[in-house]
Amino acid sequence: MKKKIGIIGGGASGLLCAVVASQGDCDITVLEKNKRVGRKILATGNGRCNISNTEITPAHYHGHLPSFTAYALKQFDNRALERFFSNLGLEFVSVEDGRLFPMSLQASSVVDFLEDASLRGGVRLMTDTAVTRIEKRGGRFRVFHEEGSVDFDIVVIATGSVAMPTLGSSDSGIRFAERFGHKRFDPFPVLVQLLSSDPLCSRCSGVKLEAEVSAVVNGIEEASVRGDLLFTNYGISGLAVLDISRAISRGLQRGYRCHVQVDLLPDMAPDTLKKILQNKSKRFAKKPPRLWLNGMLHQKIVDALLDMLKLTRKSSLGTKDVQRLAYTIKHLQIAVHDTRGAKGAEVMAGGVDCSEVFAKTMESRLVKNLFLTGEVLDVDGDRGGYNLHWAWASGYLAGKSILASANSS
Ligand SMILES: Cc1cc2nc3c(=O)[nH]c(=O)nc-3n(C[C@H](O)[C@H](O)[C@H](O)COP(=O)(O)OP(=O)(O)OC[C@H]3O[C@@H](n4cnc5c(N)ncnc54)[C@H](O)[C@@H]3O)c2cc1C
Repeated sequence: MKKKIGIIGGGASGLLCAVVASQGDCDITVLEKNKRVGRKILATGNGRCNISNTEITPAHYHGHLPSFTAYALKQFDNRALERFFSNLGLEFVSVEDGRLFPMSLQASSVVDFLEDASLRGGVRLMTDTAVTRIEKRGGRFRVFHEEGSVDFDIVVIATGSVAMPTLGSSDSGIRFAERFGHKRFDPFPVLVQLLSSDPLCSRCSGVKLEAEVSAVVNGIEEASVRGDLLFTNYGISGLAVLDISRAISRGLQRGYRCHVQVDLLPDMAPDTLKKILQNKSKRFAKKPPRLWLNGMLHQKIVDALLDMLKLTRKSSLGTKDVQRLAYTIKHLQIAVHDTRGAKGAEVMAGGVDCSEVFAKTMESRLVKNLFLTGEVLDVDGDRGGYNLHWAWASGYLAGKSILASANSS
């Protein structure tokens, strides 16, 4: 008799797992709560789907068990991914930082190819079906949904994380795993905007610049990166902020005081900046500082800095004023009290403890024939295609393992 496989979640890892496993003689059903599979994939990379990266290494991944990703990433690296998708008909382009996209620059083409390959492989796509509970009775699983239940020999939990609930995301996968005795590391949002009540942020709202931003947690600099910084009404955003958000989010989760330190003029050495400001303050002694500073920084930032340092009313700046100003431009501190949370995050860190899952198959060490893939596990990647790549690679291993067990029975 054919083995019955139930994949809970028709997202990145679930669909890839289904396509791989469908090459064997088994009966596969994907149960997806949304009306269509792959809804989150459609939103990735601003609708363009940053599908992977040319530099896939474990160093780009985080979690409590750093070695866990190594085998999957070796078995299914970016070349394997390109081969897999080009066999389905998809072509790729790579852009700066090695980021890979479908040549169409449309996430929908990735979903279309996966959906088509699943259906051609005989996979049943049960959409609009939210799974509510999974039980194991004897050697089989009973999967409950709102309108009944289905029995399976093998179950894959591929439900992703709660990041961006507007896309139908849920934390149900972690809860299902917990019912089977798995431990979890509490999820926290990453690749997320940061909230600050520093008035400078709202005053400078809309201003975007290239800066060096550092995450300072409990007084220690934990991450630093150069890139886009965007001031907003609620705090700070931009690619550089997303990149350091993990350190801040984890610090806040642990109850630490966190701030972001910003170098507003990263191309200028501190002494050079001081000299330039000193010269300007002498040369333009008769002009208000806000006027001549405007030649170096956005006017909104200049006004906010002068107010912050109580220099606004001064008609000219003395040596000490210049020193304070130069220091603040290079070391602006923005206190952060929270992140925008799951609703703004691309990814949730944390999840099911990977030490309870076999790294070579993604099968649970606690429950035979139960597999876990993608973001439901305690693995999160850097920005740049790494999170989707983890979903593909873990889905691939689970699919291969299911294929092997179906072929051997
Ligand atoms: C806006 C946004 C942009 C992103 N851009 C990128 C990018 O460009 N590159 C990148 O690498 N990563 C990106 N990511 C992250 C990436 O999309 C995820 O890490 C990846 O999709 C996770 O794959 P997954 O299979 O674990 O989960 P998902 O792809 O989220 O799939 C899980 C599926 O399970 C379904 N589900 C959940 N609970 C149930 C249930 N109880 N019953 C039935 N179905 C259920 C969900 O509806 C969903 O379809 C982005 C994320 C967001 C939110």
